[in-house]
Amino acid sequence: MSRWISETLYGSYQQRFEASDVLFEEKTEHQDLIIFENEFFGRVMALDGVIQTTDRDEFIYHEMISHVPILAHGNVKNVLIIGGGDGGVLREVLRHEDVNCTMVEIDASVVDMAKKYFPAHADGAFENPRCNLIIADGLKFVKETTEKFDVIIVDSTDPIGPGEVLFTSEFYSDCQKCLSEAGILVTQNGVPFFQADEVTTTQARMSPHFADMGFYVVAVPTYIGGFMTLAWASNDPAARRQSVDVIEARFKKAGFDTFYYTPGVHVGAFSLPRYIEKLVK
Ligand code: SAM
Repeated sequence: MSRWISETLYGSYQQRFEASDVLFEEKTEHQDLIIFENEFFGRVMALDGVIQTTDRDEFIYHEMISHVPILAHGNVKNVLIIGGGDGGVLREVLRHEDVNCTMVEIDASVVDMAKKYFPAHADGAFENPRCNLIIADGLKFVKETTEKFDVIIVDSTDPIGPGEVLFTSEFYSDCQKCLSEAGILVTQNGVPFFQADEVTTTQARMSPHFADMGFYVVAVPTYIGGFMTLAWASNDPAARRQSVDVIEARFKKAGFDTFYYTPGVHVGAFSLPRYIEKLVK
């Protein structure tokens, strides 16, 4: 017997999925985790009632949150991922052959269950010697580390539950301290059609700590509501404004193929639709 599972992110609007099979459902040490099978999307993961990832559309988000900052920077050696327990960002980051990656995820159960039920997300990346997985709170890690990173990618849950601290001014300030000179911070920043306050709040909290701050967009079917924003901060204003030719040359040199990301999409993603632009002061 199938069961319908609703996302409970918004008060007066829901998306729901038919679960032909519920593979895992448990309260972990940090959050409610459910993994189920859907005929169209394949395997789906939700945390605290919010869709995190699906087999069918994960490539869109994972490519855009990884390759845009790495190729915009152009000389990345060390990446820090905060969150990202399903392994999708790690897989994309490690496609860049010169890059080492530290990943700090608070919930070991998410990693364990992703390895079991979403093997294609990490595609072996957790076992890659260039990956250093640390189970810890991302806020605490950036406060205490003495390491410097060229890119920090915050692949977090929404600002409820354990992810809430990853949307604070304190966290952004600590990220700034562990970025290298031309380093770039990118964070998951919600769907502004529904979560407009995430754009305004993030801008107010993030921009004081960096010379340059903005947003770029990506449309992911199961992060429903049109475009999602990814927040961007750096001390190098040029990084956000690279020409398509520069990005094209770097992408070609990187030597791998993608399913969503192209240099044109990369550059175009920084042109915001007016309703989002108006949220950005
Ligand atoms: N791509 C998804 C999205 O946009 O909604 C996020 C997926 S990923 C599974 C989110 C991860 O962030 C979860 O595994 C969660 O455990 C982790 N997380 C939440 N709060 C955290 C914190 N304070 N430190 C480190 N990881 C955290």
